[in-house]
Amino acid sequence: MTSGDGPVLAVVGPTAAGKSDLGVALAETLGGEIVNADSMQLYRGMDVGTAKLTPAERRGVPHHLLDIWPVTETASVAAYQSLARAVIADVLGRGRVPVLVGGSGLYVRAVLDDLRFPGTDPALRGRLERLNARHAEQSRKLGILRDQHATAIARLEARVRQIYLEDTPDTLSFVLEASSFADLLDHVEFLNDIGRQDDRIAMQVAHATAAMAAARAETARIRARVADTTRVVGARVAEQRAARDRLVASRDALSSARSDKRETLGEIRADRADFVAEVGALERESAALAAKIRSSQGAGVASTGSGVSASGFLWPVHGAVTSGYGWRWGRMHEGIDISVPSGSSVVAAASGTVIYAGWLGGYGNLVVVDHGNGLSTAYAHNSGLAVGVGASVGQGQTIAYSGSTGSSTGPHVHFEVRVNGSAVDPLGYL
Ligand SMILES: [Zn+2]
Repeated sequence: MTSGDGPVLAVVGPTAAGKSDLGVALAETLGGEIVNADSMQLYRGMDVGTAKLTPAERRGVPHHLLDIWPVTETASVAAYQSLARAVIADVLGRGRVPVLVGGSGLYVRAVLDDLRFPGTDPALRGRLERLNARHAEQSRKLGILRDQHATAIARLEARVRQIYLEDTPDTLSFVLEASSFADLLDHVEFLNDIGRQDDRIAMQVAHATAAMAAARAETARIRARVADTTRVVGARVAEQRAARDRLVASRDALSSARSDKRETLGEIRADRADFVAEVGALERESAALAAKIRSSQGAGVASTGSGVSASGFLWPVHGAVTSGYGWRWGRMHEGIDISVPSGSSVVAAASGTVIYAGWLGGYGNLVVVDHGNGLSTAYAHNSGLAVGVGASVGQGQTIAYSGSTGSSTGPHVHFEVRVNGSAVDPLGYL
């Protein structure tokens, strides 16, 4: 992951838990792309029993690492790991959210949790170790040569001192002072010995000097190579450390984001399922209800209501509005849902005449009150009714007891306001 930072979402769980579908929903919601982590779906042709989504089911969300290997190839976690990391870096680099989906825990872990990196190039590390060993050996050698050089110089100085400072007689004085030929020969031999010894010492010094210079040059060369190699290794280690830190940071951010998003998505899915179940059933009855209201109003059924001006309505019950009026998820909700415990008194929003009191499909136990001037109100999902058709009711009078009958996923009052049979937003009248 060298380009771009950001969270990686992982959808994991047992086979057939709906991961693929959830992955697509997440990707649609978050602007993501799917990265497959199911080992079986890496193979071309293994479509049966692997829950592989059809192109239509992918709903236009890009899917990566599907069908990449022939079935004859043996899956390798290492090969998958490098492919997946490259794909994730690419997705992040384009500002999208990678959604890792799969049932193969090993493959998911290979991408998310395995923070170990393959070690530094073993060949490079080996070379550095060999260079370091040579450098140490060469330094030791240089030390020994330096000692030898110092010793040779000291010896030379001693000889020079002996010859020139200790008033040693020269060859001529030896000859003149020799008492015998044998004595003379001894002296000459002595002088020759001195000359040979001086040559040897001078040569030793020259050798030691040259060897030391060569060793020093070789040491400097090795030291330069050690420094170069150390710099390369250091740069790679720093690079890997930075990459690991980024990965750790994004993993930490992910682990909290992951649970938050899973929760939110779960709630949305549950809400949506409830809403669709209730509204779908009410839609089927709505036209029938409108017809009933219009025929009652058109037939001149006596209305004792005096007409109600806007905002003249009472709330039928007191509770939280859990679903408002209007379009949601492609469906029209023709009333408002007010959450109350079962058995609560439901009161007439205004005075009028009961034109319907009984069961009506998804509405369950329903009461409809006509208020005159084409205005009517409906109260649905009741557990019991307190009035019958034709009854005159006053504003605030109990007309029913709340419940969860018909298509309802919990105790609440579904309250509608209709003008000439057509539903309008009740909040405009409350
Ligand atoms: Zn409702």
